[in-house]
Amino acid sequence: MESEGRKRRMTAEQVLDMYKKTGALLSGHFMLSSGLHSEQYLQSALVLQQPEIATELCAALAENFKDANIEVVIAPALGGVFVSHETARALGVRAIFAERVNGELTLRRGFTIKPGERVLVVEDVITTGKSTKETINVVRNAGGVVIAAAALIDRSGGKADIGVPYKSLVTLTVPAYTPETCPLCRAGSKPVKPGSRGLA
Ligand SMILES: [Zn+2]
Repeated sequence: MESEGRKRRMTAEQVLDMYKKTGALLSGHFMLSSGLHSEQYLQSALVLQQPEIATELCAALAENFKDANIEVVIAPALGGVFVSHETARALGVRAIFAERVNGELTLRRGFTIKPGERVLVVEDVITTGKSTKETINVVRNAGGVVIAAAALIDRSGGKADIGVPYKSLVTLTVPAYTPETCPLCRAGSKPVKPGSRGLA
């Protein structure tokens, strides 16, 4: 039986609070990996560094799929690895990840997906959905069946085109600007580049 103390459902506010408390959601003037400027910066590694929070967030995410007969959870490395692990823990299934070899996502380390296996593809943050889609292709090439995709945070405003049903705990619409049109630049401030591809 599920104990009362271990809450599963989480509101978007509760999730964002955890991001803020751990410094994983910052406000300021940032240069994203795309070269665009933004007032918001997400670094999920900072919230996931707290194992108990990671477990709780991913249990809330997994709640959406508890009746979906998922057999394997997969994420693209590196940002999604803990999300895969903790979501799989909540579902009682295996957790694997795909990693880039010469720029291409690949299954390594002896990870396999059996033909017909029911797979959930997860990420920490979905921005354009590009790496989620690449991971979906990895699963399909291995013969697996992608049941759905999921992310802790969808910062595409729900517009990411992934091609399978997907769920997130939070949907954000974060405006991004070209340097020429950035109101923060115009106001005289300089953007900070946190220097990680994972910051979306
Ligand atoms: Zn700017």
